[in-house]
Amino acid sequence: METILKVENLKKFFPIKKGVFRTTAGRVHAVDDVSFTVKKGETLGIVGETGCGKTTLGRTILQLYKPTHGTVRFEDRIISDMKRRELLPYRRNFQMIFQDPFESLNSMHTVGYILEEPFIIHKIDNKQQRIKNVKSLLDRVGLQKNAMEKYPHEFSGGQRQRIGIARSIALNPKMIVCDEPVSALDVSIQSQILNLLMDLQNDLDLTYIFISHDLTVVRHVSDRVAVMYLGRIVEMAGADEIYTKPLHPYTKALISAIPRHSTASNIERIILKGNVPSPVNPPSGCYFHPRCPIAQEICREKYPEFKNYSLNQSEHMTSCHMAGK
Ligand code: SF4
Repeated sequence: METILKVENLKKFFPIKKGVFRTTAGRVHAVDDVSFTVKKGETLGIVGETGCGKTTLGRTILQLYKPTHGTVRFEDRIISDMKRRELLPYRRNFQMIFQDPFESLNSMHTVGYILEEPFIIHKIDNKQQRIKNVKSLLDRVGLQKNAMEKYPHEFSGGQRQRIGIARSIALNPKMIVCDEPVSALDVSIQSQILNLLMDLQNDLDLTYIFISHDLTVVRHVSDRVAVMYLGRIVEMAGADEIYTKPLHPYTKALISAIPRHSTASNIERIILKGNVPSPVNPPSGCYFHPRCPIAQEICREKYPEFKNYSLNQSEHMTSCHMAGK
């Protein structure tokens, strides 16, 4: 499979401004030196606790935030260097589905206009054809055509997410970043939305980056999974591999916390001590060392290299001094 996305040494730091003169008092290390590739048609899951930087990573990949450092290559172009005007025609190739569709859908507009807007912005088709497009999008996501005349608040959470999905696929994108797309929904609705996303992936040849704190959901939809901690990817492997043979102590702790009916049943429950350290002043050495149950002296001094520990052809990357020992 060909590579559709290549992220290299990506960093996104947010300045903390203080005082009357708004001087920079520090920086939040939201995404801190992240590199990976995504193959065309695959789903890369990104998991981690709230505040680990996964949403910022998704937004920085899509250039909703400009990176502090590093590059994002989409197909054969580096999009992280593009100016706004140059990026606009490219944007139709990569879209985002948000956790709360109510926030992302303009409540002042009808659903018909919300779905027509991408065609207007990109000057695609005349009015008559655009209305046909909107009807076809509604049909594609399982909504009635009369939804066009209604406003977002007239729909349930699951229906609103269907509208958000319809808007995200309007311009035939190649890649979609799904940011916690089912977290705000009832469990009974979650599976319907996940099935819709997987159907669309098959039918439209989509590539997904699927961000979630819910490890069970991520395993269900992903080909590969990346685990984030304090702005960095600490482990990345095929979905089955990472859930059954995790190498990094943080991944082991996350997986051990999945309810017992899952594959975590053979992994002893690991309770992590302390809270996630501040991303303003990450710890020295391995960022996980203050909470790691097997930390050694070297862990406080040196950040472990992110390298492949797979014993077969596949990749199983992690950054831990104790991996493989
Ligand atoms: Fe724990 Fe050390 Fe591995 Fe970090 S490098 S996860 S502190 S053993």
